[in-house]
Amino acid sequence: MSRTASTGVKVIIVGAGFAGLTTAIECYLKGHSVTVLESFPVLKPLGDIISFAPNAGRIIHRWPPAPISTAPTVAEQYSPICLRNDIFTFRRWDGEFLTTQPVHERKEDAPEFSGHRGAMHQILFEYAKALGIDIRLGLRVVQYVEETDRAGVRYIVRGADESTPEPEVMWADIVVGSDGVRSKARELVLGYVDNPKPSGYAVYRAWMDASSIAQDPLTAHLVAGADYHVGWFGPDVHFIFAYIQNTQSVSWVCTHKDDADIEESWSFPGKLADVLKVLDGWDPVARRIVQLAESCVDWKLVYRDPLERWVSKAGRICLLGDSAHPFLPTSIQGASQAMEDGVVLATCLSLAVQRGDPLPDAVRAYEKLRYDRVRRAQVLGETNRDKWHKADFDKVKEDPEGMKLGRDEWLFAFDVEKDACERYAAVVDELKKRP
Ligand SMILES: Cc1cc2nc3c(=O)[nH]c(=O)nc-3n(C[C@H](O)[C@H](O)[C@H](O)COP(=O)(O)OP(=O)(O)OC[C@H]3O[C@@H](n4cnc5c(N)ncnc54)[C@H](O)[C@@H]3O)c2cc1C
Repeated sequence: MSRTASTGVKVIIVGAGFAGLTTAIECYLKGHSVTVLESFPVLKPLGDIISFAPNAGRIIHRWPPAPISTAPTVAEQYSPICLRNDIFTFRRWDGEFLTTQPVHERKEDAPEFSGHRGAMHQILFEYAKALGIDIRLGLRVVQYVEETDRAGVRYIVRGADESTPEPEVMWADIVVGSDGVRSKARELVLGYVDNPKPSGYAVYRAWMDASSIAQDPLTAHLVAGADYHVGWFGPDVHFIFAYIQNTQSVSWVCTHKDDADIEESWSFPGKLADVLKVLDGWDPVARRIVQLAESCVDWKLVYRDPLERWVSKAGRICLLGDSAHPFLPTSIQGASQAMEDGVVLATCLSLAVQRGDPLPDAVRAYEKLRYDRVRRAQVLGETNRDKWHKADFDKVKEDPEGMKLGRDEWLFAFDVEKDACERYAAVVDELKKRP
């Protein structure tokens, strides 16, 4: 796979998260001209564990090495720094063994990746740069504008006077608002401010060096061998631990009831004493993991009802990734669906050029092709959470199968690019019939 000849389509992408970078890479490889604007002035390895399911692994696997770089492919770089176990162990809150489930099947053409978000993001960013994609850091987009034949953005240069955005509008054929859960683009697309709602849950999260776990007699067995992945489940709480041998790191997340109504943030500091309160009376091994941490993040999970649309009136600005559809972590699909979005948008733009369709039709087709599948994956987050949190824990020992996560073919075996190519024409022709 190498770069397709130029299509002449110019795309501005706002946000260089996984959604923005994937869209940029896919657009670039398909011959569109791309500029990415990101408000962070420098890239920092932020976050902790993030997962890409096989449906996203298939996308990553297809990316070729960058021509001028000697670095291995993105998939080759992800492999050694990601979880490489193939069994997930379920325990009841008190430590009682329940069952195991095979996970992380290493299908070569659709691998599954779970690793440190910051490290994985850095690799993706370096790859996009090595391809030659124009990525501009330190530019915060503050306004989206749209005319019938073009769309644009105004931005503020980091550190400049906040009240005076750059006077010039930066124009393109299409603008992509992949600007995350607190999207500014969403206001333009919806025509109103969409306020997030608390989901009723929050997650304490930590990523730490494995050495303290290795030195404690109660926890040493967790990191004594190969990669290890285990979860403890109790009434309305679950606690998941992962050991990634090659990075000598461990991560844990503790999802629990929480009705606090604050803005979601990845850097809100949590208190370890509060985590231990949530885990009061739980397996001493789980509690000791928390006691060995130096700090954790308290991430209040907010949620949004599905948005009515992802595309602006004139069809030249669209939402993509978390800005269009935030996910509950129990879906384990947020980042994967963001990647799928990017592939579909880039594919639709290419097919529009080939068929001579107006570009706004391609953008509307992107929404149409994605909407139902994304919604189905979003609902999975609620189903999985309820499966784990509302289980009858007295009975779960007799029938632990009910705790296992669905690893459905419709989700994992899906080739998003193939699907977009197959359905695009019918979707656009249908859209054209509308008044
Ligand atoms: C700092 C950070 C840490 C995270 N850590 C984790 C984690 O540990 N585990 C996990 O599962 N998920 C994490 N996430 C969320 C996860 O990355 C996303 O849910 C998923 O990858 C979808 O990505 P996205 O690109 O749609 O959104 P995001 O990853 O949120 O990316 C959006 C990007 O847009 C930029 N942006 C926002 N507004 C503007 C603007 N006005 N102008 C220019 N740029 C703008 C942001 O700086 C950000 O880089 C994190 C997100 C962030 C931003």
